[in-house]
Amino acid sequence: MNDSNTINKGSLPGLKEKRYLQKKAIIGFLYRMGELSKPEICRLTNVTTPTVSRMIEELIDEGWVIDRGCGNSIGGKRPHVFSLNPDAAYILGVDIGREYLRVAIFNLKNEPIEGILEYSSILEEQDDEATLRYVREKIDETIGRLNVDRAKIKVAGFALPGLIDREGTSYTYLTYEQPGIKGILEEMLQIPVFIDNDSNVMAMAEHTFGVAKDVNNVLCVSVNECIGLGMILNSKLYRGGIGMAGEFGHIRISGLEASCHCGKIGCLETVSSGRAIENVAGKPLQEIIEAARKDDISAIDLLHRAGEKLGEGIATMIHLFNPDMVVIGGEIVQAGDLMLVPVQQAINKYALARMRGHCELKMSNLGVYSAILGTLMMVMEHLYDDTECEYSLY
Ligand SMILES: [Zn+2]
Repeated sequence: MNDSNTINKGSLPGLKEKRYLQKKAIIGFLYRMGELSKPEICRLTNVTTPTVSRMIEELIDEGWVIDRGCGNSIGGKRPHVFSLNPDAAYILGVDIGREYLRVAIFNLKNEPIEGILEYSSILEEQDDEATLRYVREKIDETIGRLNVDRAKIKVAGFALPGLIDREGTSYTYLTYEQPGIKGILEEMLQIPVFIDNDSNVMAMAEHTFGVAKDVNNVLCVSVNECIGLGMILNSKLYRGGIGMAGEFGHIRISGLEASCHCGKIGCLETVSSGRAIENVAGKPLQEIIEAARKDDISAIDLLHRAGEKLGEGIATMIHLFNPDMVVIGGEIVQAGDLMLVPVQQAINKYALARMRGHCELKMSNLGVYSAILGTLMMVMEHLYDDTECEYSLY
């Protein structure tokens, strides 16, 4: 790993380490809150004004912080406010899907530099070695096309479909044992890497940027080729015991008898996933949705049945978690009301009135980019909320 990104805390003598941690905290607060005045920074960090002044001066000299001049104030003297230099460091986000590979480089204002680049995926066609080579090639290509200084990319976040545990070992795709895929990517990129299931990071994106912004308890169901679930409970992503919570696609639904690709029978995924819908119609989901929009009754029926069973599953989740909101995301979003209406009808039918009355049902407005936006939020959660995390942008 790159020395400039990793700090061995043991090697820093007392005061130097304390300063480093305080400056790291200032960067964290500025990242989350945008602009802050000196008195606000003193209050948040619990550090005296002269020390904060000195550290801010150092951070300005080092290119991390910008003095934005006088901010707004109601009466009295307006204090200077400070913000992060958005180009002081970058975060690499990579969403490795079954049908696409998306790569973005984010600045410290959460903006992808010149947008998100999309490539085709080879995840299901090629072996692990070839997939990794391809991913590396596309990351290099993106950095080249965006003309970004590679040394400023301090950390990376990856989203992958399938089972991934807390330690970053993947059990469905790129199933390396020792070191797991996280370790292999770190070696490949020479920066710290965080990795999580795509549904988990999608939920983090919905909670930060999407329709579920600042909602405390949200269940985010993604319907693509498979069905995923990310749960935000008490405003935190719930990962479960070993990090695999939310395998919603494989819950048993009444009346279903078809075999699932997981080896079990009657899973929700055998009727409501993109793959199941496509198998019945014999054409891509996109075309089925378009046909339904043009009044094709069999396409409407197919989406209706998928929505009904999805709603039945969601009703169970409403009983278990009492969420404030359920968000439906993924490719199915394009079906709009053709999907949302049968889901809501099933919730009305199967969930208790008092609980369903409290729970809003919404379609995601982040489109296909929710997972890659989520990789950024996952990285920031690790860097700034996890006290055990030894990495930092600074
Ligand atoms: Zn299954």
